[in-house]
Amino acid sequence: RVKTKWAATLPRIPATSLALHNFDVNYGLQFGDLWPSVRVAMLCEQKYGALINNFSDVPGLLSELRFKGARDFVQSGRSLGEGTGGAGRLPGEGLTPATGSTEEESMLPEMSPNIRCFVFPKGDIARFKPARPDSCGTLSYYLLDAASLLPVLALDVREGHTVLDLCAAPGGKTLALLQTHAISQLTVNDVSESRMNRVRRTLQSYLPREVWSGNRVAMTTIDGQLWGEMARSTFDRVLVDVPCTTDRHSVMEEENNIFKKMRTKERQKLPALQTQLLVAGMEATRPGGVVLYSTCTLSQLQNEMVVEQAMHVAQDERGVTVEVEDLGPLERHFESTFHFAPRQRLGLLVIPHLTANFGPTYLCKLRRVR
Ligand code: SAM
Repeated sequence: RVKTKWAATLPRIPATSLALHNFDVNYGLQFGDLWPSVRVAMLCEQKYGALINNFSDVPGLLSELRFKGARDFVQSGRSLGEGTGGAGRLPGEGLTPATGSTEEESMLPEMSPNIRCFVFPKGDIARFKPARPDSCGTLSYYLLDAASLLPVLALDVREGHTVLDLCAAPGGKTLALLQTHAISQLTVNDVSESRMNRVRRTLQSYLPREVWSGNRVAMTTIDGQLWGEMARSTFDRVLVDVPCTTDRHSVMEEENNIFKKMRTKERQKLPALQTQLLVAGMEATRPGGVVLYSTCTLSQLQNEMVVEQAMHVAQDERGVTVEVEDLGPLERHFESTFHFAPRQRLGLLVIPHLTANFGPTYLCKLRRVR
């Protein structure tokens, strides 16, 4: 009898195809008629935003970006008299509240006037050039998925706050947090030593040494699941930007793809790890403080269901109570920039769309009550 040679002869299915198949099955059900348009957007070129680096000085940069048709989506909805720190702001920019009522505006997080991020308008697929260094070699902006700034804005960092960035690498959100100039003490953590080195390199390229090397910024490589016990009720704000199936990467890139057969177990364990990280984040937040959960996946299993599970575990096993905060005002404020998924039970989901190809980004804001 001739033995069939399975392993050697069967063609290997690319991880990107496995990811797409998995998404077709799951997201087809989750999003229904909406899925084909999200799918096509995820398979097309992603759109970026340029996070302005306040620590660099490139003359004429903001006017140059505006001349090319980009606009600052963070500050452009702020109303008059809020002290927008509007250096270089053009007349008319930043004067029209995107949300009509003042009551609704008062429910928005305090968006630091120091966070400025330029994007091209909906439907415009222009790209930003790589950032230029100033005379000291500091880079003028950081390119990132503009939707990934929403968790930082929703975190609502205020003057003097202590902040824990639990899963920080490669450091895009850390850099945005530091742009606020408001944080009294920032702990930047990631379990991976090599990925923390990437954070260090990013901070070195964007910030003067005194900002990241002093006592105000601590860098740690501790398993995030341990922070609850280690620093119970400590921080004013905790950002829990967890590892996930990184959907856009998974359908586009073979390298480091979590849908590779050999990573199946790791992928299946993600919701459990995400839950433990969020529980630790809740516990490390002081009562009255805010913990922000975020991912870059569309998966309900990794988004809303993790939040629900973590709330149960925190309550039953750690005696920690949190309440979900309404992000409706934030959604309405930014609806001219992003496409949001309808009907989230908890939190907010930015879905990729051909005219605004940002995301996926999921965020849920929780306030610790007890
Ligand atoms: N916040 C980052 C940013 O904006 O650039 C992105 C974070 S990335 C989505 C998730 C990170 O979680 C990875 O860098 C990974 O190394 C880290 N991670 C995975 N398991 C962890 C754990 N148990 N504790 C802390 N960090 C962990």
